[in-house]
Amino acid sequence: MSAESCLHFIGGRFVPAKSGQTFPSINPATEEVLAHVARGQSADVEEAVQSARLALTSWSKVSATERSKLMHRIADLLEAERAEIARLESRDNGKPISETMEGDIPRAVRNFRFFGDLILKEQPFHHRGADGSNFYVRREPLGVVGLITPWNLPLYLATWKVAPALATGNTIVLKPAELTPLSANALARIMQKAGVPDGVFNVVHGFGAGEAGEALVAHPDVRAISFTGETHTGAAIMKTAAAHLKKLSFELGGKGASVITEDADLNAAIPACVRAAFRNQGQICLAGSRLLVHEKVYTEVIERLQQETAKIRVGDPLDAQTSMGAVISLEHRERIESFIAYGKQHHKLLLGGSRPKNLSKGAFLEPTIFVDVPQNSRMVQEEIFGPVLTVQKFSSDDVAIDMVNDTRYGLSASVWTNNDARAKKYAENVRTGLFWINAWFIRDLSVPFGGMKHSGIGREGGRWSLDFYSEYKSIAAPASQNLEKIWT
Ligand code: NAD
Repeated sequence: MSAESCLHFIGGRFVPAKSGQTFPSINPATEEVLAHVARGQSADVEEAVQSARLALTSWSKVSATERSKLMHRIADLLEAERAEIARLESRDNGKPISETMEGDIPRAVRNFRFFGDLILKEQPFHHRGADGSNFYVRREPLGVVGLITPWNLPLYLATWKVAPALATGNTIVLKPAELTPLSANALARIMQKAGVPDGVFNVVHGFGAGEAGEALVAHPDVRAISFTGETHTGAAIMKTAAAHLKKLSFELGGKGASVITEDADLNAAIPACVRAAFRNQGQICLAGSRLLVHEKVYTEVIERLQQETAKIRVGDPLDAQTSMGAVISLEHRERIESFIAYGKQHHKLLLGGSRPKNLSKGAFLEPTIFVDVPQNSRMVQEEIFGPVLTVQKFSSDDVAIDMVNDTRYGLSASVWTNNDARAKKYAENVRTGLFWINAWFIRDLSVPFGGMKHSGIGREGGRWSLDFYSEYKSIAAPASQNLEKIWT
């Protein structure tokens, strides 16, 4: 199959980079070049921002009812193309087709439906002061917003930002991850088909530092940046954005912990903890990449962990039976392997640690487990973002809570216990934005999502997303003027 062109989408048209430069997007499972991608720079960002600015005046005045209808049309079209887009995403990212078919693409559809419905539930806020004066609080869009996304859940995370930004009447410039550009263009085609006005949704491809990503953050007409990615990238973005006092939302790295206490139901805990560690090849910000086990059940857990992990089928992402595909790139595999080499030198390898012998091409890795890893090891402290799990033993709940909290991250954690008081103690003392009791990855679009410490700033999801992508205007008048009659 010959490689296609992946162009920017600006002002309703697919256009090449102004410089004419491209870079390859590579299928990490086969190492084939899938597409030659437009390499955006500040001139491309300038054009996209201007087209978004032009579209803003009319788009921000479209009624919530009309915006909602359009968002459901986008969802319908995405749903109709689910199989095709799932395949595209799996080839671009290396993740199993079962995940893109059942996870990423349906979740992207739900983002449009959810925020399309939520915007209709908004109630006008009227208030009377003590002297009878009238107040009306109006939600208004921010303007042009910049959305910068990572490669691990490309379409899902793009739509997690695009849907609430559209619902609240903003116009958008999306900068998808350079390693997974293709599904953003599938979304652009769907926007065209759905009848989204030209310039409301724009895509500029390219790299981050010094190129398209940084140019978007530095652009004075971009009012806000919603960013998901690595913690140090968040710090760089904050620095660039400071010059223009931009509104920022950051969803950053994680080092999630699963805690198996002495009274846990191991039949439920073990498969869930294995999924938490290895789903999406361990490349999920919410991954449970640290497993903490009470000393009383440690030996049994280790044994059952081995049995459960051995069931994982690593292989061709397009095979429906595959449960683990390729990691995002050969370079990323090398980075993960440098952690594995460190682990082999300093800790005890329980399982994996190599490239699968039967797969000669592609960025594949075995699911890998190290046991008895000390808390100060870089394998416990740093985000590996690959299929590597560390296991640690603890003797009391207080010790376990300290261990969970003892990294710079604070995104997610789980506790496995049959004791409600114990569950409560963990839930109230662990410093993470998300916490699960006897579960991993229970999500709902209505509740806030985000991390503490170096895992993020702000919350998105539900009304928190609407709040991020809009600002409130308080309109006041004397008692004699009834604002409720003007804005009902
Ligand atoms: P990354 O930070 O390298 O890149 C993310 C995006 O930022 C890309 O589009 C990239 O081009 C852009 N970028 C890079 N430097 C930039 C700069 N200086 N200015 C503007 N844009 C810039 O992250 P990644 O490797 O694509 O993704 C993996 C990371 O994302 C992990 O750390 C993971 O934990 C995190 N993540 C977090 C969440 C969450 O919700 N907290 C969800 C998914 C992924």
